Amino acid sequence: MKPVIALVGRPNVGKSTLFNRLTRSRDALVADLPGLTRDRHYGEGRIGELPFLVIDTGGFEPVAKEGIMHEMAKQTKQAVAESDVVIFIVDGRQGLTPHDKTITDFLRKSGRAVMLVVNKAEGMKYTSVAADFYELGLGDPYVISAAHGDGVADLVEEALGLAIAQQPVSDEALDEAPRGVKIAVVGRPNVGKSTLINTLVGEERVIAFDMPGTTRDAIEIPFEREGKQYTLIDTAGIRRRGKVFEAIEKFSVVKTLQSISEANVVILLLDAQQDISEQDAHIAGFILESGRALVVGINKWDGLTSDRRDEIKMDIERKLNFLGFAKLHFISALKGTGIGPLMKSVDAAYKAAMANLSTPKLTRALIEAVEHQQPRRRGATRPKMRYAHQGGQNPPIIVIHGNALEGIDANYKRYLEKHFRETFSLVGTPLRIELRSSK
Ligand code: GDP
Ligand code: GDP
Repeated sequence: MKPVIALVGRPNVGKSTLFNRLTRSRDALVADLPGLTRDRHYGEGRIGELPFLVIDTGGFEPVAKEGIMHEMAKQTKQAVAESDVVIFIVDGRQGLTPHDKTITDFLRKSGRAVMLVVNKAEGMKYTSVAADFYELGLGDPYVISAAHGDGVADLVEEALGLAIAQQPVSDEALDEAPRGVKIAVVGRPNVGKSTLINTLVGEERVIAFDMPGTTRDAIEIPFEREGKQYTLIDTAGIRRRGKVFEAIEKFSVVKTLQSISEANVVILLLDAQQDISEQDAHIAGFILESGRALVVGINKWDGLTSDRRDEIKMDIERKLNFLGFAKLHFISALKGTGIGPLMKSVDAAYKAAMANLSTPKLTRALIEAVEHQQPRRRGATRPKMRYAHQGGQNPPIIVIHGNALEGIDANYKRYLEKHFRETFSLVGTPLRIELRSSK
């Protein structure tokens, strides 16, 4: 599981600045979830091979009893509950404030590992910046400048070390190798995830893993259908639930992100009885970003008319048009209808995601595509594509080698993707094309 770091502190101490620094180095998966998480942002960072999640919070004014500040405090609590380690940021130019003390009290009760970080310290002496903050009782502060990057790399390494140490050690007896396709079921609250999981796996199993006190983070539940093995991935929700976190939202972005990244195939559930919402689009965006194979289940189909079928298909095309590669299924998790075909698509998507594409086959397909339509010239040169090989699976990555490939535009890349997709019948998985110029 990816370690989760939450950035907490008063408004204006530099949380967003640090968040951007941690996540911008890669194509950051940065999402705002309007309505749901007014002021929480999720991003992915990476140090070397190690990916981690960062949650930015809007700002914590713990005294507010209502209004926007109260809402923000709630959001912060949720972020803390979802994290392994909290980076608590204070402002080195402003010095210690009473609110910093209140936040400290809250964090202490949360039971999370906390790192105290003094920001905006560029050009200042460690001892003089840090002195003010010892009285918080959080140990030696880390002194950084988020804006300039001073001290940030060390801070993150330290935070990740702590985060990993916080993660529960899995019970090895339960840790058999997963069998068959790993599936995650995701969707916004009340679309029918638990109902579908019950239908797939059987009631007792689900109750068993939902029990309080379950300490494992990701639960893998093996099940069988039509003689085939699958493993359902479920993250046990908010970890180490404590008294402070009673009022946690039912829906967890971290849980969604973690289960997507553990799966081979994601089943995205939508509610046929409602319009596609922004939250649906965000979750769909996470899946696309992850590169996992995808099957869309339009649930609660019982009792609806075929007019509604056309309506919702149009709504999906309009709002989730980037999911064109995925199969749609109308299902009823409650009545158990449509599940067979849905699972057939899961199998097909997995097969496509794990396809082995040999270099000669890919190169032939590439040459065919180019013969059919050349990339445009860029100035005097025309990009020259020579051969292609497979650079990865789940999602399949096709690496194209040649010269002057930086001249290939997004349109042409889409054309190539379509061509490969059709040639190799790659349904249900994203496909990535990488261009590598030798000159
Ligand atoms: P947030 O409200 O905690 O997310 O704070 P922001 O990241 O929006 O930063 C608030 C202000 O502090 C902005 O004007 C930033 O440019 C500034 N700031 C952030 N980090 C630093 C820093 O390391 N040094 C200085 N001098 N200013 C900073
Ligand atoms: P989750 O929050 O995504 O896990 O959703 P649940 O599985 O808890 O379902 C939310 C509500 O939708 C429950 O009242 C379910 O009985 C209902 N529900 C789930 N699937 C269906 C379905 O296929 N048809 C209908 N009509 N209701 C369903």
